[in-house]
Amino acid sequence: MPAKETHISSYVAIADRLPTLPSVALEVVNLSRREDIDMHDLAVLISRDPAMSARVMRLANSALYKRRHGISTVRDAVMTLGVKAVKLAALSFALTSVAEPADDLDGYDIQLFWRRALIQSVVARVLCTELDLAFTEEAATGALLMDLSIPVLVRVGGENYRPVISEMIVGHPNWELEQTVLGVSHVDLGRVLMTAWSLPVRLADAVACHHSPERLPETSSPDLIALTQVLNLAHQAATFFMVQDPTLLKGFEDSLKQWFNRDVETATKILGQLDAPIKEFAQVVRVQFAHGENFSEILEMARQQLFEISMSAAADAEDQKGQVAELTKVASIDQLSGLANRRGLDEAMAKEWKARTSQEFPDPLGVLVIDIDKFKLVNDTHGHAAGDKVIQAVAKAVREGVRATDSVYRWGGEEFLVLAPGASGASLRALGERVRRVVERTVVDIGGQTLAVTVSVGTSAQVTDPAGTEPTVLFKAADVALYRAKEGGRNRVEQGAEN
Ligand code: GH3
Ligand code: MG
Ligand code: MG
Repeated sequence: MPAKETHISSYVAIADRLPTLPSVALEVVNLSRREDIDMHDLAVLISRDPAMSARVMRLANSALYKRRHGISTVRDAVMTLGVKAVKLAALSFALTSVAEPADDLDGYDIQLFWRRALIQSVVARVLCTELDLAFTEEAATGALLMDLSIPVLVRVGGENYRPVISEMIVGHPNWELEQTVLGVSHVDLGRVLMTAWSLPVRLADAVACHHSPERLPETSSPDLIALTQVLNLAHQAATFFMVQDPTLLKGFEDSLKQWFNRDVETATKILGQLDAPIKEFAQVVRVQFAHGENFSEILEMARQQLFEISMSAAADAEDQKGQVAELTKVASIDQLSGLANRRGLDEAMAKEWKARTSQEFPDPLGVLVIDIDKFKLVNDTHGHAAGDKVIQAVAKAVREGVRATDSVYRWGGEEFLVLAPGASGASLRALGERVRRVVERTVVDIGGQTLAVTVSVGTSAQVTDPAGTEPTVLFKAADVALYRAKEGGRNRVEQGAEN
């Protein structure tokens, strides 16, 4: 499989194919954004979907809303619950429908997903209680949802995702492998999903970093860091219970010590409390394996729990305004380098192209395509994490090397692209040289050891009216030049065609 070609473009392809909210849920969310919301309209909307009506009625009659009289109409249920709760009901309904079993979840055991989700949620809850943390419901929700993107990837990833499925450990993928074969991991996608469905940004951030809390920005609030660490601990504990490997228990204990300064006794106490509820779930799963008919029960149980947990979180759900904009931003920014990705480039390029079309003497548009030299060697010798650091360092160096009016994109795995309005010929070459030199002077620290890194650069420019041509012409020309730079010995700039 050509890993680097699928990298960013497949991320965009996946983002485009994310499951959408069922239309009624979407209408509920949109309606609840309005300030002059009419509860009657909301009730009418809900009534259009029998499954959702049932859910809302069930919630209104649940112990969460201690009513003396039974509620028997959708309208009364909506009045009882209020806008926020109804909205979350609609959302959670949408969320669970995404993980429905389907024929195309080929080779993927969705029961393992639900089992893990339930274990994680119990662990998160007990951890918060035991550690005296104030965000129990949020953590329980996050732990339940943080892997929801896995069944989504199984669906939308298709054939490309198959190698990841075959390497899964108890239903859980290796996110670095996902990154390599698909260009996106379930943690990135988790954030996109949660943002798309208007769950609190804070929870989306925690979910996005649940495999590596150390990746949170240093400026993150202590609460967000603790929440992310709880999610990570829940993941570790769930893996331990599912794999039953003592080294995993050790990992859990070490992290608990490191992050919350609690010793093994506390770890034992926490995991000891989990025994009963987790055994219960495990039993259900085993029954399912034996008879093959209780699947809907497990699913329904998980659904119900998801539903109720997100209801309880309704109280502190953040204001949702601006989150659609946030989603767009997330989708066009590369998580590793912080640079805009290919989607961002396509948008910028379309604008630049349009501005120059039908002009007799348009402002030139220069392009640099930059590819790290012998990068595979870094991965092979020092590991993928070191490779990631090199990518980040080169991204920073390229940004430093270009002018304020230029824009830098992560174009592929270890390839970058610079749009340089106004530059062509000698000035474009000089720009390429400057970028090359800044990278050459960069030293990457990979945990004590330092690495030198170089790049090869290909240029191209549009200097005439581009009408009737596509931006890809420029990319191709720069790529041809880049190839020459590689052939010519690397760490050099080669100029390509200017049209
Ligand atoms: P050349 O000088 O000819 O460019 O050699 P190269 O080794 O850099 O060759 P190539 O461009 O084909 O290698 C790209 C490698 O980058 C392959 C892929 O495994 C790796 N890669 C792609 N994306 C990522 C990433 O996000 N992180 C890491 N660590 N590696 C990545
Ligand atoms: Mg490359
Ligand atoms: Mg390379």
